[in-house]
Amino acid sequence: MSRPDDSAAAAHAHPLIVPIFIPQLGCPHQCVFCSQPAITDTPRRCPTPDQIRQEVSRFLEYGKRPSSTVQISFFGGNFLGLKSSSILKLLEAAAEFVQNETVDSIRFSTRPDTVCEKRLELLTGFPVSTIELGVQSMHDRVLELAERGHRAADTIAAAERVKQRGYRLGLQMMVGLPGDSEDGAMETARRMAALAPDFVRIYPTLVLEGSPLADWFRSGRYRPMPLDACVTLVKRICLFFKARHIPVIRMGLQASDGLNAETGLVAGPYHPAFGHQVYAEIVLDAISAAIAKMAAPIPDPLIIQAHPRMISRVQGLKKKNIFYLKQKFLLEKVLLVQDATLAKDHVRVADQLTVLP
Ligand code: SF4
Repeated sequence: MSRPDDSAAAAHAHPLIVPIFIPQLGCPHQCVFCSQPAITDTPRRCPTPDQIRQEVSRFLEYGKRPSSTVQISFFGGNFLGLKSSSILKLLEAAAEFVQNETVDSIRFSTRPDTVCEKRLELLTGFPVSTIELGVQSMHDRVLELAERGHRAADTIAAAERVKQRGYRLGLQMMVGLPGDSEDGAMETARRMAALAPDFVRIYPTLVLEGSPLADWFRSGRYRPMPLDACVTLVKRICLFFKARHIPVIRMGLQASDGLNAETGLVAGPYHPAFGHQVYAEIVLDAISAAIAKMAAPIPDPLIIQAHPRMISRVQGLKKKNIFYLKQKFLLEKVLLVQDATLAKDHVRVADQLTVLP
């Protein structure tokens, strides 16, 4: 078997992911923020080939073979930190599905310091297309405080190796880590962009039950970011990557990640619609800027037109954007009108067409 040509994956921006969790397996360090058992109820055991077969079959039966690209994804642990025999067993079980053409390829996430030539050599012959690195920060001091056990230089070396071997490269970063700042997070984003990833994910730091950070929080050593500030920072980072044509495929943990907000979450900027809030704020900024440029008086009622699939972003969560616009521009009424002829990245404010970033 050779590595699949990932042009199919590129053609499908949103592959269907069949997740196989390997919760905190292969981890040489307990990162202070991590508590995978709080995120998934999967027991901390390496899945057997039979369990993988059952899981993939169950998932595809429920989800039915879709027209989009399908990938088996090992995540929640440090894939290349597993024993070689476990890596090979997992890859062999997943590769069966690529051989019988129910799945297109395999992806996994791993720590930057495990991406060495010897480990990458293990992948030879398997249909792995994508490797995601848990970067978290590009500041050594922040990595040290988070007890990551690797440095930013490891990420740079790992990203180069992944790209040299022709895999798609995904990078994951966190905001709100102990010792980090908004400027620090922007700098991490800049240094990640310099590594030319194919996509990124941005996660807020949450205080999860069972993590060392939970003890820090309880003793007053760590304070998480407030949700609003975190949404605004992630928005800035998202726009930064967008401007460089680097897709942001995930912002925040979602309900589907299995986080039990009642028992697993101690504190922090968690919201099941975190990404939606980021996009709603991007839209609000664009609409506010368009209104600010209008000659007085601003029409009242103000009519905003958008594609039906964009209306929820224009409204914002619980109509937050509408309330904000009324208050800021002293409007009696803001009317939202659906217009399916508009592109999804356009809104019309009064009569002016605005392109969203
Ligand atoms: S963050 Fe990643 S490397 Fe750190 S303990 Fe969790 S799964 Fe392991």
